[in-house]
Amino acid sequence: MTNGKDTLLECGFGYILQQLTSWKQMTLKDSLTVCVIPGDDAAPEAMAATLRVLKSLDVAISWDCLPEGSELLELDSNDREKFVIERINAASTVLFGATNGVTPGARYMRWGKSTYANVRPIKWLPGFNSPLHSPAGIDYVIVRENLEDMYVGIMGPASKLLEANLTDPRSHVPEDTADGRFAAKIITRSGTERVTRFACELATQRQNKITVSAKTNMLPATDKWFCEIAKEIVQEYPHLHYEEFIIDDLAHRLVMRPDELDVVLLPNLYGDILSDQGAGTIGGLGLAPSGCYGADFAYFEPAHGTAPDISGLGVINPTATLLSATLMFRHLGLFSAANRLDNAIRRVYTIGKELTQDQGGDSTTEEFADAVIGEL
Ligand code: ATP
Repeated sequence: MTNGKDTLLECGFGYILQQLTSWKQMTLKDSLTVCVIPGDDAAPEAMAATLRVLKSLDVAISWDCLPEGSELLELDSNDREKFVIERINAASTVLFGATNGVTPGARYMRWGKSTYANVRPIKWLPGFNSPLHSPAGIDYVIVRENLEDMYVGIMGPASKLLEANLTDPRSHVPEDTADGRFAAKIITRSGTERVTRFACELATQRQNKITVSAKTNMLPATDKWFCEIAKEIVQEYPHLHYEEFIIDDLAHRLVMRPDELDVVLLPNLYGDILSDQGAGTIGGLGLAPSGCYGADFAYFEPAHGTAPDISGLGVINPTATLLSATLMFRHLGLFSAANRLDNAIRRVYTIGKELTQDQGGDSTTEEFADAVIGEL
């Protein structure tokens, strides 16, 4: 695993951010505290297994482990939120499971801490149970704008839009707006510029190529503008090759020609959806890590949700949470721990004897974790 891409991914996104922002150097702090938030449904099972692996790495980190969501329910929702936010603020960074709404903190870490770039590596490793015939070349990173787009939360009855006179002659206003609703999509220049710069720095450390995509043909006001701004910023990096596809074409390429992609920059909603699709091409949501980066804070979580359908069964695949921890270690400057963990995970998949059900095996979450510990 010494091709250029591997080396570049292993440089760590923390390095990129230090260049981009006034990042407070975590490595200069006397001690590192990681706030571990297990989350809800099956996510705490993945986190418990992950934590056992991380603790066996013997790194100089204090682990501040919060209770899982069902235990947090003893507090009322205000106290719960206050409690979790205080612990987030006291930590160097956060490893988060996933929430179904019971465990608070996700919104705070995202909008409260302005973590504008959601980095979602999609990389096939030998032993991953990909449905594709030849997944070997899949190794790209989705950089998803994390704060804007349709996630700004402006929604309401469609009649309000008409009252505000926001239509133009090209609008196709449905007849029955009285019984309709809208959700607003907001893209800003500054938000697009900063996430594009982030993606450009990442592309510079990988293959000098950036692919940008949105629904440019149908949504000129927002999506075409996003791509135009991105293109402008990429021109500040003359060594980068820029390519652009309409989002439906990109959806097709993720399956048909994923090996041609390297850094893929997307607005929020498309990034959310297509990163799950990308995870599907390498073998499923259990394999897809993520990190959310802002100017002075970052946190790490699997790309998947709480997997309620397998809660309590002890079969959730902790790989996505473990790989998120490798991103976290690199962010903290703990490169050796990140590499050891990465290599141990790779070996477990290459051997292929202790895999969870989603990967075609019959091992439990904890048995998989034991196998990783055995390879450390
Ligand atoms: P969210 O909306 O919170 O992102 P979601 O609706 O996308 O969540 P997930 O919780 O991500 O749903 O789960 C989707 C499917 O993938 C479920 O069948 C779930 O069991 C499966 N899944 C998700 N994560 C894992 C995992 N780590 N291991 C095994 N299966 C998983």
